[in-house]
Amino acid sequence: MAKVIALANQKGGVGKTTTAVNLAASMAATKRKVLLIDLDPQGNATMGSGVDKYGDVPTIYDLLIENKPIEEVIIKETSGEYHMIAANGDVTAAEVKLMELFAREVRLRNALEKIQDQYEFIFIDCPPSLNMLTVNAMAAADSILVPMQCEYYALEGLTALMDTITQLAKLVNPKLQIEGILRTMYDPRNRLANDVSEQLKQHFGDKVYRTVIPRNVRLAEAPSFGAPAMYYDRASSGAKAYLALAGEMLRRKEKTTPVVA
Ligand code: ADP
Ligand code: MG
Repeated sequence: MAKVIALANQKGGVGKTTTAVNLAASMAATKRKVLLIDLDPQGNATMGSGVDKYGDVPTIYDLLIENKPIEEVIIKETSGEYHMIAANGDVTAAEVKLMELFAREVRLRNALEKIQDQYEFIFIDCPPSLNMLTVNAMAAADSILVPMQCEYYALEGLTALMDTITQLAKLVNPKLQIEGILRTMYDPRNRLANDVSEQLKQHFGDKVYRTVIPRNVRLAEAPSFGAPAMYYDRASSGAKAYLALAGEMLRRKEKTTPVVA
């Protein structure tokens, strides 16, 4: 059974997409079968995976709105060793059209059921807003990984996000877990970042991933080459950090495996 992890934070520019692409690539590099789902009409995870969002590609719109079978919308040729479901501008219409459809909150969850056995990890890159697409991600996910920047007000935003997740989970997915909080674009020389990081650990304890993603220009450059950072500059601190993140995620998963299966 695949573990479904949604990358979510209502704030834009915190590293959701960068994490989705590079974590998918890193996890796939450990020989796990990975599916990456782009739910953001901006299609950044799509382009960052070497899939042309302007080309004739199937998207999450075809799955959620047109009821295309999931096998037909999965793209197997990406620049990483993972499969993906793409997004582009068409997906903006999906936000609206979903409202009129039967079982609108659980359409992604229902679709994923058919392929649960084919993947070990399914990562969902959420848009930076709380719309029906994000609700579908929350309903389909086992857990949520929250990328965040350690800056002033970050904790406030995080508390608000946690409240929203709790409310939503009650409605559509009571089993939803917090996978963890991931510190992104981290600069250890920045005093404020260190302070916020300490507060974060006090508030959220071991929910805070030990792996920290540094600010690294290679991570920002890689998307323009349509590839995860590990295929653009394998030795970069960014590529290494995401490999470490995949490792930590695997260790945590083993720990939480129930003794009696
Ligand atoms: P989101 O999906 O949350 O909006 P992105 O992953 O698109 O955030 O990141 C926002 C911007 O910051 C992008 O231009 C991205 O390339 C850049 N970025 C993300 N993570 C890093 C990092 N660790 N170091 C440097 N730049 C980064
Ligand atoms: Mg994004």
